[in-house]
Amino acid sequence: MLKDTYQLLINGEHVESSNGEFFEAYNPATGEVLAQVAKATKEDVDKAVSAARTAFDSGKWPKQTAAKRARLLNKIADIMRSRFEEIVRIEVLNSGKTVAAAQGQVMQAIEDFEFYAGVAITSGGKTNPVPNGFFNYTLKEPVGVCAQIIPWNYPMMMAAWKIAPALAAGCTVVLKPASHTPITAYILADICHEAGVPAGVVNVLTGSGSEIGPYLTEHEDVDKVAFTGETETGKDIMSRASDTLKRVTLELGGKSPNIVFDDCDIDGAVDGSLFGIFYNTGQSCEARSRLFVHEDIYDEFMDKFVSKAKQLRVGDPFDKNTHIGAVISEGHEKVIDDYVKLAVEEGGEVVYGGKRPEGEEFKDGHWYLPTIITNVTNDMRIAQEEVFGPVVVVMTFKDEKEVLQRANDSIFGLGSAVWTKDHGKAHRIAAGLKAGIVMVNNPISAFPGTPFGGYKQSGFGRELCVETLDLYTETKSVLAYTGAKPVNMFGL
Ligand code: NAD
Repeated sequence: MLKDTYQLLINGEHVESSNGEFFEAYNPATGEVLAQVAKATKEDVDKAVSAARTAFDSGKWPKQTAAKRARLLNKIADIMRSRFEEIVRIEVLNSGKTVAAAQGQVMQAIEDFEFYAGVAITSGGKTNPVPNGFFNYTLKEPVGVCAQIIPWNYPMMMAAWKIAPALAAGCTVVLKPASHTPITAYILADICHEAGVPAGVVNVLTGSGSEIGPYLTEHEDVDKVAFTGETETGKDIMSRASDTLKRVTLELGGKSPNIVFDDCDIDGAVDGSLFGIFYNTGQSCEARSRLFVHEDIYDEFMDKFVSKAKQLRVGDPFDKNTHIGAVISEGHEKVIDDYVKLAVEEGGEVVYGGKRPEGEEFKDGHWYLPTIITNVTNDMRIAQEEVFGPVVVVMTFKDEKEVLQRANDSIFGLGSAVWTKDHGKAHRIAAGLKAGIVMVNNPISAFPGTPFGGYKQSGFGRELCVETLDLYTETKSVLAYTGAKPVNMFGL
């Protein structure tokens, strides 16, 4: 149930911010205010970090057996399942995303907890080959207090991507959701407590990222920062975390290429390319926003691509037939529109969209039509900078080598996709792409278990997979001698 007020969650209790201030959470599709949300201060950061520190240093949580942690993770998933419809509804209200997108993302969040329940009980140290008489084993120990800072585009899913592996490893957490979408993080944290996670293990602070984010990232009692958001914010976080040499993982922006070869299943590639860019109203880090189409099929592909884009229904996010929901804010709608205008100034041609949709249902809230821009070259700003909205640029290519070079000509390296019936070619392209994720004849970027993360300025570290646990653990090497007497190297 949506509440009127959401208070900070520190040490297992909902508390006012130290100065009693709030900000408004609203519905981007209507502009309606949904709730008042506590606005954390630096003093609140100190309190939350201290609670997480105490829970880690003196609490039982890091020493819990893996089996118990796994049971708790599964219980969190069970409670989420029982509240599925309610969580989906609140996610749609607060983000403006379509109900279909929210259902998929909330289900994935649930499955993340189930996945990490399995990872928790199957992960651990190992023994290593060493000279005779010696014995070496490794212990995987939780890193400690983790500051986890997440964006607004997948609020519940990003919270799950962060909290689930941290809990699986035995860490404690201070989670900072984006100020546009603060609500479902509180719901998830409450569920964690209902499932039996001890007080202080999961804390949530809402408020302005620029006000409390830097303080949280620099905090000397924080051992690790896991951040998902814009590349520029990620750079700031990395430099601030360096003073105390915190462990850092960064999941940042993208400008992902989508390569359509002339030997592909054209209808499949058209559908997949539409989903690849317009899913979640284009507000996806791995949105395939640079579309490269082989020149021999360009006309046929574009006829179908544009005509199907026109069939995408923009509107009421709660209507299950809607494909494109709202954009997150007025400011972000302007960013998208400014990028489209820039593309036109640079010589691009808007062949569809390029503006807000018209009609009574769009008079409130923030909206943008799916937008297709041609006559673009890869060096234009519209082809190099992340728009983070429903805007795709289309370019042609002649051959494999050339398209690979242009696809890789970007500061980013997150998602990428290739469409071809030639499997050899698909895997040559997959090997050549400088990107953390390659989708072959498929527009889905990840499931729980598949590594997600970037090359280059899209960040580093992989989430959603078994390896993520390495980012929440330290490896301790224990080297022992098993002979009757200790090793005496000086021989004295
Ligand atoms: P953002 O960087 O503006 O904000 C992300 C979070 O950081 C928010 O919680 C914000 O309050 C906080 N923040 C802002 N300034 C901060 C600072 N100086 N120090 C610490 N925290 C600060 O990003 P956004 O607009 O919320 O999200 C969109 C971006 O996220 C896009 O660039 C997108 O590509 C990226 N993203 C990446 C992935 C991935 O897995 N690679 C996934 C989703 C989104």
